[in-house]
Amino acid sequence: MSTVSAYAATSPTDPLSRTTITRRDPGPHDVAFDIAFAGVCHSDIHTVKAEWGAPQYPLVPGHEIAGVVTAVGSEVTKYKVGDRVGVGCFVDSCRECPSCLAGHEQYCTGGGMVGTYAGVGRDGQLTQGGYSGAIVVDENYVLRIPDEIPLDAAAPLLCAGVTTYSPLRHWNVGPGKRIAVVGLGGLGHMAVKLGTAMGAEVTVLSQSLKKMEDGLRLGAQHYYATSDPDTFKKLRGGFDVILNTVSASLDLGAYLNLLTLDGTLVELGMPESALAVPPGPLVRMRRSVSGSLIGGIAETQEMLDFCAEHGVRPEIEVIEPDYINTAYERVLASDVRYRFVIDTESLRQS
Ligand code: NAP
Ligand code: ZN
Repeated sequence: MSTVSAYAATSPTDPLSRTTITRRDPGPHDVAFDIAFAGVCHSDIHTVKAEWGAPQYPLVPGHEIAGVVTAVGSEVTKYKVGDRVGVGCFVDSCRECPSCLAGHEQYCTGGGMVGTYAGVGRDGQLTQGGYSGAIVVDENYVLRIPDEIPLDAAAPLLCAGVTTYSPLRHWNVGPGKRIAVVGLGGLGHMAVKLGTAMGAEVTVLSQSLKKMEDGLRLGAQHYYATSDPDTFKKLRGGFDVILNTVSASLDLGAYLNLLTLDGTLVELGMPESALAVPPGPLVRMRRSVSGSLIGGIAETQEMLDFCAEHGVRPEIEVIEPDYINTAYERVLASDVRYRFVIDTESLRQS
């Protein structure tokens, strides 16, 4: 076992603080790596604040992890010391159920995926995430970061990137498709960039017009404020697909009316309370509400390679670990442009 520094939550309400945690020695199939950068996802905040149920504390969040391999187990074939690698939202799954065999490990039905933090690994230990100096993960759950993508920019791709890439692919978004992205935060800004790179006509629906200039620069062709009731009149029936990335609960009725016949609203946000789905807008135009969870390992690699090829990078603000509590407040205030990424160098020593 080795000891490494980390930032952990100790309760739903106390600030995160510096601590030390242990990592297992690499087993035959494990890759050990020094974490260089870790993205800050709104899911980290939902989890810390116990909005999805009571987690076990101390809890080290972080599931957008990028770094460099320091050791590999004797049976590892995919990676070697010095490789640039990443880990996303899960570090294991059953590997045998139909979902796992199809490469949709995030939908594992054989006990569920093992979360990168607040999960229980095969060794029975609680998993601890990326706000730390190093991690040990089975090689099958490690991603290769293309040389073109700097490690700080790679980190947010491991969750925000694949969470938006996967539904865009699944719902065949491309040239000729009109899509709307609700909420311009970490996920939202990646949805704008990826949807644009795939050739779709992208509209942002944000609470206000404060970030309009950014949205248009990121590639969106249109930008509307949801606080303006006219938005919902003007855009009625205008979209094939809507990706809702909002971290709070919305009344979906107004948004469903913006879909075409057979259009789909894909729910990506995971607020703690229920979403209202009135039957009228669904029934009248045969519309659908669906949801989507991150992406599988193969699809995450495909997304990283797509971003390398198409020059897609997140917009990030790199922070020191001790800024994490302020960063959480800013995310909660929708004041993130557009992903905080922790430089974990100072956590590498215990
Ligand atoms: P984020 O950076 O905080 O972005 C969320 C955006 O939602 C905000 O920037 C804001 O955009 C909008 N928003 C926030 N509060 C709002 C409110 N009360 N009313 C209307 N709009 C509001 O969060 P994120 O990291 O992108 O994550 C977004 C959500 O997705 C979270 O619930 C997270 O847990 C979830 N998530 C899901 C998956 C998955 O696999 N499905 C993966 C990762 C994260 P504007 O300022 O533009 O309005
Ligand atoms: Zn996430």
